Amino acid sequence: KRVAAAPKNPSLGLSREKNGRRILVFVRVRPLAKKEAEAGARCCVRIVDRRDVYLTEFAAEKDYLRLKRLRGRHFTFDASFRDSATQQEVYSATTSELVEAVLQGRNGSVFCYGATGAGKTYTMLGTVESPGVMVLAIKDLFSKIRMRSCDGNHAVHLSYLEVYNETVRDLLSPGRALVLREDKQGIVAAGLTQYRAYSTDEVMALLQQGNRNRTTEPTRANETSSRSHAILQVLVEYRVRDAAMNIINKMGKLSLIDLAGSERALATDQRTIRSLEGANINRSLLALSSCINALVEGKKHIPYRNSKLTQLLKDSLGGSCNTVMIANVSPSNLSFGENQNTLHWADRAKEIRTKGYANEDALPVPETETDQVKLVFELQKENR
Ligand code: ADP
Ligand code: MG
Repeated sequence: KRVAAAPKNPSLGLSREKNGRRILVFVRVRPLAKKEAEAGARCCVRIVDRRDVYLTEFAAEKDYLRLKRLRGRHFTFDASFRDSATQQEVYSATTSELVEAVLQGRNGSVFCYGATGAGKTYTMLGTVESPGVMVLAIKDLFSKIRMRSCDGNHAVHLSYLEVYNETVRDLLSPGRALVLREDKQGIVAAGLTQYRAYSTDEVMALLQQGNRNRTTEPTRANETSSRSHAILQVLVEYRVRDAAMNIINKMGKLSLIDLAGSERALATDQRTIRSLEGANINRSLLALSSCINALVEGKKHIPYRNSKLTQLLKDSLGGSCNTVMIANVSPSNLSFGENQNTLHWADRAKEIRTKGYANEDALPVPETETDQVKLVFELQKENR
């Protein structure tokens, strides 16, 4: 099916629409790993025009040595990043506007999700040489604060926490599990470290140490459990004077979330969610699916209470929060099923409407169009 060509410079501004603002959904493909190439993997994800994603299914031919292209599916997102995209490009397109909004007292959240090994932690945390969204956001925040004021009017506090097996832990001060409590500001983790940050320099080391404190797989020490969710909360407090020159305190919060591996755990309908509930699958991820489904369907009741993750994210998902999803996929056809699942879920997430806010400066985002080709994936298993 032919798709309208994407404009040369698609605006990534926060869109305003009649029925509320939809969340922005991005896809990032990581480079093919050496191991995958050696195993004969073929690239099954192609990005065209910076927005369109083509997922191709290959099946082994009779001799099982060659792969035949079977069929494909096409998706369109707000922007899609090829394996050559830099961390800075990904940050600028996905998160920089949220940082600006946080400085105006609005909440924002960025989720990375996808199967284990798809590039979530690389996108969020990155490396010392190529820092990811978390570090670039804080760097940008400090430089924006410097441009705005030199009187120390803004205070930046960082909290980094993990949800693993329905237990919340402080990654900046590991120890006991934290208890969630409801207070005036919403759900808070009692006793969570709020690290006052003064510059970017200290942040990478702090977050790397935090990441090392994430729960590891019992069988493979050093390897972060694929079931661990990490949330970095960046709280910006500042003071402004109102018309009567009274000082008022304001606050904006940015949540940057490196979700657990989504393999087998993302469900797009309630029936699948119920069938997975019995199977000891990541409860927080399922609860997130449920909340997203409820938001997509415009339900009044959003089941935030069903897990620790969704309780913590209550003010960062839906409501008046700006939400961004980055779906990470591997290019390998060996991960076809997982990629398909991730892209399908990302496609659905585009339908979430939040109340949002009117950002007068924002340009409208072009409406996306998705080719809804129905496919049968009976050969999927054979293909793996
Ligand atoms: P996840 O957190 O989703 O399980 P990782 O972020 O740990 O996956 O990525 C798996 C591997 O792929 C890591 O070795 C990581 O450094 C590498 N990787 C992921 N994305 C990229 C990228 N965009 N560029 C280069 N290497 C990447
Ligand atoms: Mg990871």
